Amino acid sequence: MSMHPLALCVGIVLLGGSASMSYADDRIPAEAKVAEGDRVDLHSFSKPNQVRVEHVRLFLTVDFAKKELRGEAALRYKREATAPRNAPLVLDTRDLTIEAVMTDGDPHLDNRLSYTLGKADPILGAPLTIAIERDSGEVIIRYRTSPKASALQWLDAPRTAGRKHPFLFSQSQAIHARSWIPCQDSPGVRVTYDAEIRVPDGLGAVMAADRVRQQGNVTTFKMDKPIPSYLIALAVGDLVFRPIGKRTGVWAEPSVVDKAAYEFADTEKMVEAAEKRFGPYRWGRYDILVLPPSFPFGGMENPKLTFATPTVLAGDRSLVALIAHELAHSWSGNQVTGATWRDFWLNEGFTTYLENRIIEDLYGKDRATMEAVLGKQELREELAKFAPRDEILHVDLKGRDPDEGMTRVPYEKGALLLKRLEDTVGRDKFDAFLKGYFDHFAFKSLTTDDFTRYLRAELFPKGPEPVDLHAWIHNPGLPDDAPEPKSERFAAIDKLAATWSDGKVMARDLRAADWSTLEWLHFLRALPAKVAPEKMRELDNAYNLTDRGNSEIASQWLLLAIRNGYTGSDARLDDFLTSIGRRKFLMPLYTELSRTPAGKERARAIYKKARPFYHPIAVESVDKLLGVGG
Ligand SMILES: [Zn+2]
Repeated sequence: MSMHPLALCVGIVLLGGSASMSYADDRIPAEAKVAEGDRVDLHSFSKPNQVRVEHVRLFLTVDFAKKELRGEAALRYKREATAPRNAPLVLDTRDLTIEAVMTDGDPHLDNRLSYTLGKADPILGAPLTIAIERDSGEVIIRYRTSPKASALQWLDAPRTAGRKHPFLFSQSQAIHARSWIPCQDSPGVRVTYDAEIRVPDGLGAVMAADRVRQQGNVTTFKMDKPIPSYLIALAVGDLVFRPIGKRTGVWAEPSVVDKAAYEFADTEKMVEAAEKRFGPYRWGRYDILVLPPSFPFGGMENPKLTFATPTVLAGDRSLVALIAHELAHSWSGNQVTGATWRDFWLNEGFTTYLENRIIEDLYGKDRATMEAVLGKQELREELAKFAPRDEILHVDLKGRDPDEGMTRVPYEKGALLLKRLEDTVGRDKFDAFLKGYFDHFAFKSLTTDDFTRYLRAELFPKGPEPVDLHAWIHNPGLPDDAPEPKSERFAAIDKLAATWSDGKVMARDLRAADWSTLEWLHFLRALPAKVAPEKMRELDNAYNLTDRGNSEIASQWLLLAIRNGYTGSDARLDDFLTSIGRRKFLMPLYTELSRTPAGKERARAIYKKARPFYHPIAVESVDKLLGVGG
């Protein structure tokens, strides 16, 4: 995918304080230029080093019939002293209809401002350039969203758990906030916001923000911490709340809420464990919203209110590592944020590492180690397929959609680097470093370069550092000194997998009825590439794998079923793909189906039924994979 040529010229953002330093200034020493270049966000048209938005006020009406949000966004801005005197305010938009742009002046006077909406780039959307008269103030943009807004999913009632009311939810990461709010859509720009959301009768709104009040159909929200636009989030539906701890609770449809409260009962304990390690939880409440099954991700770390897939409601609390992960983002990602999508690994590598530490504190070393082994295994599988440029932590996303950077690399390779650092300096020293890091950069956005400079100063002030940071961050592949987590339990399961597949024991002799999710995942992955369909049936008969409600086990099993031509799971595969929209499960299954012509035909037939139910983000991925859509 190539970027619109115009975007290459104007679609760059300089972030941070050194606004006087121009990208093209040849008086700057080469080294400083490289560092400044790192602050360039290729995925935003905005120029916050000239005019920066600081606060957003939203007044939006939710219209399910038209599938649109309409109303106003009032943006408080400030022009930097170093910016040209007539520097305009530049915002990102995608598929928005702009009806008027006004100043906050006397409403009796003509308060319209002139603006231009640029040509739309397929990845970035269209820049909205507003001529502002003053160095600070507020612009008010009256607009409406498109029914195909990439951040918004409008679900008809039959696609929800309760099947009586429609549902709407947003997913703004990576660059989708611009499809529902005109904004400076870069993780390097942080804003506070207020919002008034008007919804139809019988429905309720939640946002990843504090709930201020509700009057009739209008709910008012407030976010008092500066956050990047990709963390602004809204959901509307038939939602109820259950408290699960003093500052924790769940929101969900009425038929799901009790199950969710049971599943996430340990959340308060997780917050306490994380605070002990990484410093205070600074967001007030931590609640979880359980979405309908078409949510394309496992979870989204929207501040104060994690959005989560219902596929983690396994009934036995076995998949709560996902909550540990989203909670950990309260420190890494939300409190301290990578400044551009190249720095995404600062969010996800840290969070994957923190997640594992929380799991260890709550459930012990064995379980944490098993999770780490599975994580590294997933990374290895991806590395085997990737081009070298996609194996790099500080990934080059020029001309690409940042959603393409969301691989296991920033997560697992990033976490392995942090584990390597922990092993090098010792846990106590590393924990103190982490606490200091989260405090030092609290509510700031930083680049990879900012991170390495801080790390060197704090951990290795006398240099040279014992870990080759440059190789870890800028080279493809996995360095030789990557930690190798080892699980004794998994080693025992490897042996069982071998003896069963060699026919030395029967499936029922594995005594696997009480295995945990992690043990099953490891066992299924440890089986040889080819397992005879009769053997698949034997295993299925012994442990009822086809009908497992646990989505992780089910998807791993279905993958094996496709690969080995086991027809006993055909109906279940159909049902799974048409009732779950989580991309992590969809992509491997459709990929496996596509390996044979008959499989591909089947994939297309299933997808035809499932496509209307999936989120636009998942649709885009599967369309591309199967070569359909348009
Ligand atoms: Zn994450």
